[in-house]
Amino acid sequence: MKEIKVFHKAINHVADTAAKIKKENKKIIGYLCSYAPEELIYAAGFHPMRLFSSKSDIILAESHLQAYCCSLVRGVLEDSLSGRLDFLDGTIFPHTCDSIQRLSDIWRMNEKYEFFADVVLPAKLNTASARTYMLDVMVRFKNDLETATGNKITDSDLHNAINTFNLIRKNLSRIYALKSQNPNIIKGADLYAIVKGSMIMGKDELVTLLPEIVANLEKINPPETQGKRIVVSGSICDSPDIYTVIEEAGGFIVGDDLCTGQRWFEGQIIEDQDPLKAIAQRYIDRMTCPAKHSSTTLRGENIVSLAQNNKADGVIFMLLKFCDPHAFDYPYLKEVLDKGNIKNMRVEMDDQQQNLGQLSTRLETFIHMI
Ligand code: SF4
Ligand code: SF4
Repeated sequence: MKEIKVFHKAINHVADTAAKIKKENKKIIGYLCSYAPEELIYAAGFHPMRLFSSKSDIILAESHLQAYCCSLVRGVLEDSLSGRLDFLDGTIFPHTCDSIQRLSDIWRMNEKYEFFADVVLPAKLNTASARTYMLDVMVRFKNDLETATGNKITDSDLHNAINTFNLIRKNLSRIYALKSQNPNIIKGADLYAIVKGSMIMGKDELVTLLPEIVANLEKINPPETQGKRIVVSGSICDSPDIYTVIEEAGGFIVGDDLCTGQRWFEGQIIEDQDPLKAIAQRYIDRMTCPAKHSSTTLRGENIVSLAQNNKADGVIFMLLKFCDPHAFDYPYLKEVLDKGNIKNMRVEMDDQQQNLGQLSTRLETFIHMI
């Protein structure tokens, strides 16, 4: 499908994607975490772009971050220090895991880009004061953006951003639903390209492309082949090869609990409310990652219902090495899945990992076993 090729091109040539956005006179604000309030960045006239590691060897970042920090923060810092992110005009760091917070300190001290903000969101989300605090954080961030641009962000700007992000999220949810209904409808690597591309590409382009992809997918009905239905869980998954490895082993990814997947795009912002309150509310209501808290059982209930609703044969935890928040949550999530007789396995990955050989063998064994 020609629309999907656009996504592959965008993620394989990020500097070109950035140059295209700059031609539209948009400044680019990078972020590493799905708690970054992209709607406000967009409403301010900037382009929010999620940063992924280019997977180059870590050399310059070694003198700033210990080897036991996750490969995402080390890789992105390496890219910044080596000039591969020179297209950025600014960066924002939501207050989430320790690694992102420490990276934020190093980033601020290096002063490479024009705009910098820490967005200090509440960690505990299930209280009335958290709601008030979340709204205050959004107001403060909006003020920071207004100071940077010298322009007011109006309610109309915010409503436009909400409509845009709701449309993007609705279409991504639809593509996932179609894939879950018939996993043959789209290859895993294409799905990966669409989701990753949606975090990188111009939002106005996505508003056109994503509904076209949905309309095309709705027209086709490829024969279903037998295969094991897999849900993946973790922080980020930035390895298209994993999708292919799983498919070659006889599995299909039919859902995920990833912050580069459903946790990022699920949940609509209410459109007929005060826009800033509505944006804040979505960040309270969205499925949490282990860096946030809203209940001691929510993540477990979510992974079980994801597996059940997608009729999954198994769950694969794909954890980045040295990602403590997800490593801490893993035993509890495993226990919940085991109690529900949902087969599961854990693999540890590294952003710089090029050779998936041993991992492939383990994934194949698991898929054959379930
Ligand atoms: S897992 Fe949580 S803290 Fe980590 S990058 Fe994703 S949303 Fe941010
Ligand atoms: S949540 Fe994990 S993977 Fe994400 S930035 Fe933090 S330590 Fe790294």
